[in-house]
Amino acid sequence: MVQQVPLFLDGEFVTSESSQKMPVTNPASQELLAEVPYATEAEVEKAIASAKEAFKTWRNVATPERARLMMRYAVLLKEHHDELGELLAKDTGKTFEDAKGDVWRGIEVVEQAANIPALMMGETVENVAGGIDTYSYIQPLGVCVGITPFNFPAMIPLWMYPMAIACGNTFIIKPSEQDPLTPVRLIELFVQAGAPKGVLQMIHGGKEQVDMLLNHPETKAVSFVGSVPVGEYIYKTSTANMKRAQCFAGAKNHSVIMPDADPTKVVNNLVGASVGAAGQRCMAISVAVFVGDSKNIIPELKESMSKVRPGAWDDAEAGYGPLISKAAHERVIGFIQKGKEEGATCLLDGSDCTVPGLPDGNWVGPTLFTDVTPEMSIYQEEIFGPVLCCICVDTLEEAIELVNSSPYGNGTSIFTESGGAARKYQHEVEVGQVGINIPIPVPLPFFSFTGWKGSFMGDLHAYGKQAVRFYSETKTITARWNYSEPCDTSKQPNLTIHLK
Ligand code: NAD
Repeated sequence: MVQQVPLFLDGEFVTSESSQKMPVTNPASQELLAEVPYATEAEVEKAIASAKEAFKTWRNVATPERARLMMRYAVLLKEHHDELGELLAKDTGKTFEDAKGDVWRGIEVVEQAANIPALMMGETVENVAGGIDTYSYIQPLGVCVGITPFNFPAMIPLWMYPMAIACGNTFIIKPSEQDPLTPVRLIELFVQAGAPKGVLQMIHGGKEQVDMLLNHPETKAVSFVGSVPVGEYIYKTSTANMKRAQCFAGAKNHSVIMPDADPTKVVNNLVGASVGAAGQRCMAISVAVFVGDSKNIIPELKESMSKVRPGAWDDAEAGYGPLISKAAHERVIGFIQKGKEEGATCLLDGSDCTVPGLPDGNWVGPTLFTDVTPEMSIYQEEIFGPVLCCICVDTLEEAIELVNSSPYGNGTSIFTESGGAARKYQHEVEVGQVGINIPIPVPLPFFSFTGWKGSFMGDLHAYGKQAVRFYSETKTITARWNYSEPCDTSKQPNLTIHLK
């Protein structure tokens, strides 16, 4: 009997009534791990009704008490770190260390949520007019929704529901149908930490189930992380329904290498940032822009990349794992083929990669292209595989122009020994997250995750500090406490009329 991935509705793990299911497989072996259901309309309705009901009481639970739930949750997640890492590694194919990193980055957000009283402080000004004070409170919205991608099945759900729930909201999570096992375990631990019934629900599915959440009048805010076309669709649909929405989408991240950069450090960083996690990271470096003579390190880069090999999650020598699915594998192989047809030079071709003992895995070896031009599809499209494209330019100005003409703006980096070049780059580049001698600058959650341009749709960023603003409303109160004292309302016309 194949394991059925449960829904989590109204405080209970339940088997879906749905007959529509999708296999969940180990991408290194195709072993069937479980089946994930596409929730029925009644199940989605139940999730929303339960979350709505729970909001009535949860919003009034003392803020420090909500913070304590997150403190207990963070402790439990740490206690189960290895176990979660193993589960995540089997479900996604990530190496054990990488999988543990995925969990850890989520734990850091839960720690941030445990600090919620300080983050929810409002503002006050005494005597805005004589005897009148104004102050503001931060209040939760109601039922919030999260739709998450396959590539970080712990970190990204944990970007969302801990902050939203700590603010006093209730939450419905729809994790990726490709690797839903880790999110289930995360919720089991949330229950163990003392989460009250109804504050968190989990449904599974695809477009149909997402549409139910986006079109329902009771859902107030939508957080999405995933690809560009789906992000655009979710942003447009949510905002057309007058919901608050923020969509973190795809990327094509450039790394600029200046001639004065330390070659060994550059090579080590580029290899890890381009093929790590099989390139399935929204902050992967997929384009290396070599300025002037820095291109002389390309042969060294090729040699280092050729030494990295993919393998199973528990293979300590493996640099990274398989791609998530057969479809993703075909797509990446298709791009490698296209790159060759379009005239790029394929210095290293990972198309025919095999791993001994795992003939059915979705393997792609490290792939390196040079002579890439901006018109080529391997430059324009997000490949989401272990593929690095090299472009050579003469000056830093040209490099900045190239990066700024990309429709995406998630992350970028520059390698240089020059403070002047680094300062110029950080100031002029139109990308939200900039690394200086660091390849993947994913900020910790006391900052915000700040993709720009086509990599983000919305105004605030759900991750980290800004998450409180996204998951709350500000209520401003202006009060006259003592009617017997004189009060100058001459500069407040509406008050003047009222008091007359
Ligand atoms: P995806 O867009 O295919 O799926 C994301 C989620 O949307 C899943 O839960 C999926 O079930 C749902 N979905 C899929 N099609 C839908 C549709 N038509 N209507 C409504 N919902 C739909 O993305 P993915 O392949 O799971 O993840 C990889 C993508 O995510 C890459 O593009 C990557 O760059 C991006 N990503 C971005 C960030 C970021 O912070 N900017 C972080 C991680 C991943």
